[in-house]
Amino acid sequence: MGLESIRCFVLDMDGTIYLGNKLFDYTKEFLHTAEKCGIDIWYYTNNSSKNAKFYISKLKKMGIECEEHKMLISNQVIIKHLLKEHSDSRVYVVGTEYLVNDFIEAGIRVTDTDCDIVVMGFDTTLTYEKLVKSCDFVRNGAILYGVNMDYNCPTETGFIPDCGSICQLVYASTGVKTEFFGKPSSHTADFILEKTGYDKDSLAIIGDRLYTDIALGTNNGFTSILVLSGESSHEDMEKSETKPDFVFGSLKEISKNLKKIYNLHETATSE
Ligand SMILES: [Mg+2]
Repeated sequence: MGLESIRCFVLDMDGTIYLGNKLFDYTKEFLHTAEKCGIDIWYYTNNSSKNAKFYISKLKKMGIECEEHKMLISNQVIIKHLLKEHSDSRVYVVGTEYLVNDFIEAGIRVTDTDCDIVVMGFDTTLTYEKLVKSCDFVRNGAILYGVNMDYNCPTETGFIPDCGSICQLVYASTGVKTEFFGKPSSHTADFILEKTGYDKDSLAIIGDRLYTDIALGTNNGFTSILVLSGESSHEDMEKSETKPDFVFGSLKEISKNLKKIYNLHETATSE
């Protein structure tokens, strides 16, 4: 199966459409090409240190308009799960203001005293006190959830420890493993199918990271497309057990490919 059958791209953000605050010079051309081919564009980021509104305005500053409902983030996936499965639970959130506010706005009972569930996010405001509290709650029987399993977040100055690493610390202290909700979990796969309304055969995940973006595809039956413009190199891919369906240098090459495909079927796309 080729890209012909894809009706919707779900794009990762960092390393795929931009690096830090620098939009790749081919991203707008890619978006334009996809639009001309009638392919729907959605975004999904695992970065739980921010929220959907933040990313919509980040894209806007880069000259990209994204409708509110098309910006998906791991925060929304865990919130949906909590509302459905633990609606009365008291939740201690280890996270930034963005994450905590998302929880409060969704109507979750956020507390920092007695809790039933500890949620670890990518907390760039993490303190030792928060870690002590989390470990105490978990030792006393609280459920341990993590928003996204990434170990590191790439920045312009190198890697910084992400949610997965913070959860490893809680694991080392308590012996309790975290259940994660962002990419590549089935929670995220179900969430993407529900939100976009596309079926698995017509949707493709595009991202730069093998163990999150590409694993989301391979674990859950979506088409996955690796771009080498971010974290993973060709060598990483060859060594990895997680293999994408397609590999491209960047979105630029995907544009070229789409143009070829749709020129071949020009009558289907002409107005
Ligand atoms: Mg990325």
